[in-house]
Amino acid sequence: MKKGKKLYEGKAKIIYATNDKNLVIQYFKDDATAFNNQKKSTIEGKGVLNNRISEHILSNLSQIGIKNHLVKRLNMREQIIKLVEIIPIEFIVRNVATGSITKRLGIEDGTVLKEPLIEYCLKDDKLGDPLISEEHILAFDWASKTEIDKVKKMILRINDFMIGMFRGVGIKLIDFKLEFGRVKIDGKNEVILADEISPDTCRLWDSITEKKLDKDRFRKDLGDLIPAYTEVAKRLGILHEQSNVSAVNVTKLSSVKRKKK
Ligand code: UDP
Repeated sequence: MKKGKKLYEGKAKIIYATNDKNLVIQYFKDDATAFNNQKKSTIEGKGVLNNRISEHILSNLSQIGIKNHLVKRLNMREQIIKLVEIIPIEFIVRNVATGSITKRLGIEDGTVLKEPLIEYCLKDDKLGDPLISEEHILAFDWASKTEIDKVKKMILRINDFMIGMFRGVGIKLIDFKLEFGRVKIDGKNEVILADEISPDTCRLWDSITEKKLDKDRFRKDLGDLIPAYTEVAKRLGILHEQSNVSAVNVTKLSSVKRKKK
């Protein structure tokens, strides 16, 4: 697999071409942004952790039949993924109300929802990713009814699986963001899960203490983001218990683990 030219650079990731026209390389950066790019920083080691955590979650989802873009992790920061045409919508899934929805609707922070809520936001940084309805999606042809119905079914299965996976390691899955893409598989048009699932794109609270183990540590200036992401990785069994929290150690441990396989 040869790494080709840079195709796209986003806020937290870079996409490179490969010598296979159907595959690209997804590189996880250490950059962190929040509030529509108004707050920016670089947090050493974040990309390494997100690469590992996202690989873990997507490969587990694959095992329960959720088709996704992950082919395999290449190294500390890179994965080979299927090239998809990203549907320009962020699918937000909420189990507990926190963040923007509490302000928008005057809901008390931490309110447990009666059932999971799916919200749609248009992927457009210039507009600040505005909240849209399913009717907007259909009216402006951002996705078809068939695609939306398929995506909704996948989202509910993903949510059920992830709630259970995190509950098993003492973490509450509060909310998260998903992206989907179109791809031809064996001549058939499919919609598959794309992008990443990591503490950058989920809200994860410790089940007992409700300590935030996600990007809110950056958004809210709580500090200790790397120890929190490392804790998530350790609990999921990706990193060994004794591992230290520094980015350097994350790097060393991950290579040790790879060699052992
Ligand atoms: N989220 C994300 N990327 C975005 C917007 C939201 O990954 O561009 C995730 C976010 O981390 C959280 C969930 O989606 O887990 C819901 O976010 P919310 O709309 O509450 O965002 P806020 O405006 O509060 O950051």
